[in-house]
Amino acid sequence: MISKKTEEQGENKMEKIISLCKRRGFVFPGSEIYGGLANSWDFGPLGVELKNNIKTEWWNRFVRRRADMVGIETALIMSPKVWEASGHLKEFSDPLVECKKCHSRFRADQDNGSLKAELVFLKEAEADGENPMKVSGKVVRYRLSGKCPVCDSPADADSFTSPASFNLMLKTFLGPAQEKANEVYFRPETAQGMFVNFKNVLNTTRRKLPFGIAQIGKAFRNEITPGNFIFRTREFEQMEIEYFIPEPKADHDWQKYFEHWKNEMKSWLRDLGVSESRLHFEDIPEGERAHYSKRTMDVEYDFPFGRKELYGLAYRGNFDLSAHAQGSGEDLQYTDPETGAKFIPHVIEPTWGVERTALVALLEAYSEEKTPSTDGEGEARTVLKFPFWLAPVKIAVLPLSKKEELSAFAKPLFETLIQHFACEYDETQSIGKRYRRQDEIGTPFCVTVDFDSLKDRAVTVRHRDTMEQERVPIENLVAHFSEKFAR
Ligand SMILES: [Zn+2]
Repeated sequence: MISKKTEEQGENKMEKIISLCKRRGFVFPGSEIYGGLANSWDFGPLGVELKNNIKTEWWNRFVRRRADMVGIETALIMSPKVWEASGHLKEFSDPLVECKKCHSRFRADQDNGSLKAELVFLKEAEADGENPMKVSGKVVRYRLSGKCPVCDSPADADSFTSPASFNLMLKTFLGPAQEKANEVYFRPETAQGMFVNFKNVLNTTRRKLPFGIAQIGKAFRNEITPGNFIFRTREFEQMEIEYFIPEPKADHDWQKYFEHWKNEMKSWLRDLGVSESRLHFEDIPEGERAHYSKRTMDVEYDFPFGRKELYGLAYRGNFDLSAHAQGSGEDLQYTDPETGAKFIPHVIEPTWGVERTALVALLEAYSEEKTPSTDGEGEARTVLKFPFWLAPVKIAVLPLSKKEELSAFAKPLFETLIQHFACEYDETQSIGKRYRRQDEIGTPFCVTVDFDSLKDRAVTVRHRDTMEQERVPIENLVAHFSEKFAR
């Protein structure tokens, strides 16, 4: 149970982060000069660096540095047949009910006051004649009770429609004619791009099982209730892997890969600086899993607005490739090079959200401190204690003042450093204020050029976290920082 006080502190922290993100150029409200577009966000100069650092690290770690992985980039808009075969057109939906008397509409899976809806999970076999529907691949039924919150009609079959699916696929048209035949959808996930290209990848790379196909890219969902800053938006970015494995003979044969990816996710979160105490690895119970999945795990995080899903990991059997083999008529089997046995590979699917990763990184890095200032008075500072690899700016070059002889020394130094590291040059305001500004965006090191620098050709390097300072000769500066940022 979250106490009232913790809740308020949480809201406060979100407000502070949203405000810092706007003030410093991480995240701006989308289309702001036109009054904004609800729940859309634009990533500013620091935000795009943060996102790029996340994506580059992920790609290097899971694609470039692994012999069993290849990357891919597939189209945002795919043939509608893909979504028919994958089940998205039928099942990727939220449940809507309508009062027949007053025509008010409600989402059955949300709190609607006097109208109660009990969610019943069904096994496929039980579903016959029970008016079932599918939500995210799960066979469910909503039992309505209570009364309409608007007109008080009883929630029975006479007054209410049975829950109908509101599809989350974002529809548009290709070509000039806005007719049914030209209807297409923006992808709601990157995963299908990997399944649809399985045969192409297999033929061109001659990979042997087990191997994975990875993709980073945008996905779109016409969410009924987006919100919580960049947590749930209709347009977002995913980092996904489809890891193909041989047909398992026993549970252990897929479990070992599932454990591998669970551990990879844990180690990724550790390197992102996420406290383990705020993470939960939740197994989804059998009745709530997609029928083809033997194990599905949500990685949840204690956000200030509650415990919510951060990442996902699922063993999906051979459902996806089988569905596309059936839908397309193509043979998507794999031939074991040793035994000659043919089978459809099974798949483990770990999924990361880029924006959720950025939000968690901001939440974990954010800290407010009281520090002793040089004149002995306590001073407050806000610091984003990002892991070094994640920081959008690595080094700030700060001449002590705007004096020309200092800039003449500092500018060439900045030009040298920026060839190696993401750097900023700042000569406005007092040095104390400039330190605070760099602390607030998470810059690990500040390099100060003072009048002594002109004589001893050395600079003062200030550390973000300890605020300790050391004198470093400029000839050694690139090597000094290369060592600091080495991973
Ligand atoms: Zn009504």
